[in-house]
Amino acid sequence: MKLEDISTNFMGVKECKNYLREVGVLRTFSKCIYCGSKQIGYIRREKVKCYICKMEWAQRKDSILENQNLSDLSFILLLKCYQLGLSVETTNFETSVSSKIIKKYFKYFRNSLVLYYFGEDLKPQDSVNLSLSQSGEKITFTDKEILPIEPSMKIDIIQTKSIKGEYLYKYETQITGSSTKYITELQRFWRSRKQYFETFTGFGVADMFYYLLELVVRYNEEDQDFIDILTDSLGGSKYPALEKENGG
Ligand SMILES: [Zn+2]
Repeated sequence: MKLEDISTNFMGVKECKNYLREVGVLRTFSKCIYCGSKQIGYIRREKVKCYICKMEWAQRKDSILENQNLSDLSFILLLKCYQLGLSVETTNFETSVSSKIIKKYFKYFRNSLVLYYFGEDLKPQDSVNLSLSQSGEKITFTDKEILPIEPSMKIDIIQTKSIKGEYLYKYETQITGSSTKYITELQRFWRSRKQYFETFTGFGVADMFYYLLELVVRYNEEDQDFIDILTDSLGGSKYPALEKENGG
């Protein structure tokens, strides 16, 4: 049995909508966005209606799902699959959502998550410096040069081309610092994650950069914290909206 089949039995249309509002992916409207009246209602065709000025708007307005065809349930399934770190192929099997759409959402999840976690002014680079927080528990990212005595790991993302002209990625790491305990922690991070990085296929150094930082977030945050951070990052409308889909 697929994840999709199980979920359909447990989550109806209304439960899905409520969940997405609860976690802040969808906005909760308490008054009319046109006239400010509080006499509004959630009506059919996924709309909200104002009973004073008679205007209507989509329940998905100002959210990542605005103008998207994906159902609420499928979106929740994609969130779950992404949280579990499932591949595009497995997610396609579990949800019946097309690989193309899954890739689009996973990329959006990743970029939102990373920018939310590490700061919105973050710019993709081909060289990433990681160090440990003061407490030594969390890995932090810095775009500044780190002093040689500070425990840190530098990862260079190197883009090459195969004979067929496909882009390939490899990396070089360099761990420095004088504290053995911290160095061991950084080594542990990379040992447990590099296999994911090696199998990830991005379409440019920027993709690889975001993926690498996603691995850091996953290393730092437990499952529940991870999904909370992810949904929080998707809640705002700070990021460029997904392209409008036909018929959406
Ligand atoms: Zn109104």
